Amino acid sequence: IRLTEEGKRKKEDIFRALKNVFGIANFAPALSCEQNIEVIREKAFELLKTKKFKTFKIFTQRSKKEFPLSSREVNERVGEYILKKSKIKNQKSKIQTKKRKIKVDLEKPDVTCFIEIVDPIRNLSGSNGARKYAFLYLEKFQGPGGLPVSTGGKAVALISGGIDSPVAAYFVIKRGVKIIFLHFHAYPYTKKASIEKARKIAQVLTKYQFESRLYLVPFADLQKEIVLKAPAKLRMLLYRRAMAKIAEKIAKKEKAQALVTGENIGQVASQTLENIKVIDEAVKLPIFRPLLGFDKEEIIQKAKEIGTFDISILPHEDCCSRFLPKHPETRAKLTAVKKAEEKISLDELSNQALAKAQIEQI
Ligand code: ATP
Ligand code: MG
Repeated sequence: IRLTEEGKRKKEDIFRALKNVFGIANFAPALSCEQNIEVIREKAFELLKTKKFKTFKIFTQRSKKEFPLSSREVNERVGEYILKKSKIKNQKSKIQTKKRKIKVDLEKPDVTCFIEIVDPIRNLSGSNGARKYAFLYLEKFQGPGGLPVSTGGKAVALISGGIDSPVAAYFVIKRGVKIIFLHFHAYPYTKKASIEKARKIAQVLTKYQFESRLYLVPFADLQKEIVLKAPAKLRMLLYRRAMAKIAEKIAKKEKAQALVTGENIGQVASQTLENIKVIDEAVKLPIFRPLLGFDKEEIIQKAKEIGTFDISILPHEDCCSRFLPKHPETRAKLTAVKKAEEKISLDELSNQALAKAQIEQI
C-alpha cells in the first residue's frame, strides 16, 4: 500500500483496516528504495537517525536470490556504514545528539532495522513494468493471520442472534472460507428483533469478508407442525435437524461445502455428543463447530474482540425457545427421532420456508 504524499491515506486508518484482512501475518510501515547497497545503507541511516538508541542490529531478508550480496553481507555492509556515519559531526540525527557511541548488539538491540529485498513488484507505483524494491522498517505489527478470503471455498453459517454463532462464523472466515449467513426467525409470531440482530451481526462480520449474503428464513410453520405432531422432549432436536436440512438446501444452491454452527459440548443441557450425532445424521454435508474447544468466557472475549458481543446481548425472542419443554432430550436415540420426524412433512415445509426466504446482500 503506497501512502500518498499529501497524507490523504491516513496511516492509522490503513493499520486498522489491515488488522481485519485475513492472510496478513504482519505488516510494517516501510521506506522503499532501489535494490542497490549504497542506496539501501543511506536509507537505513535515514531511518535510524529518527530514533534514540545505544545498540542496534540490521536484519536482512532476501527473497530475491540473484541480489549480489547475501543477507549477512548486507547486514555487515549496512551496519558498518551506520557506525561510520554516526561518528561524523553535524549530522542532524538523534543518534548524534545523544553524544554516546552506538554499538551493534545482535542479541538484545534497542532497535532493529529490518531490510527486505523482495522479488520484483508489478505496478506499485502505477507504472507498467515490474520494479525491484528493497523495503526498510524499524517495527512491524501483527496482522490477524489466517488465509485470504474465499481461497477455501464457501460454507453456510447458522446465526441465531446469540453470542456463539457469530464467533464460530468468524473462525471459519479466518481460514479463507466465504460465509453465507443464515438466520431462522418466527416473525410474525415474534417481534423483528432477532432479524435485526442477525442483520447487524452479518454486517459486522462482513468487514472480514468484504461482501456477504444473508438468508432470513421463516421457521414458525415448521415449528408449529413439530409442536403438534412430535413428542415435546424431541422438539429441540427436530428443530435443529430441520434447520440443518434447510441449510443444506441453501448450501447446494450456493455451491457451499459445509455448514457452521456455534454449538459447544455441554454448554447447555441439550449439547451432548449423542444429540450432536443425531443432528449430523440429518444432512450429508459436514457440520463444523469451531467453538467445541472453548469455554464460554473465552467465546465472550472473542465476541468482544470481533465486535459482535454488544449486538448479541441485545434482547430478542429466540424462535427455538418457543414451546420448549422443561426437560429436553439429552441422549437422543436416532430411531426415536426418525420415527417422530416421519409424521412431519419436513421436505414440503422446508421448501415452503425456503420459498419465503428473504435474501439480503451486504
Ligand atoms: P448461540 O449463542 O449461537 O445462540 P447457543 O450456545 O445458544 O449458540 P443453541 O441456542 O443451542 O446454542 O444453538 C446452537 C446453534 O444452532 C447456534 O450456535 C446456531 O449456529 C444454530 N441456531 C440456533 N438457533 C438458530 C436460529 N434461529 N437461526 C439460525 N441458527 C440457529
Ligand atoms: Mg442460542
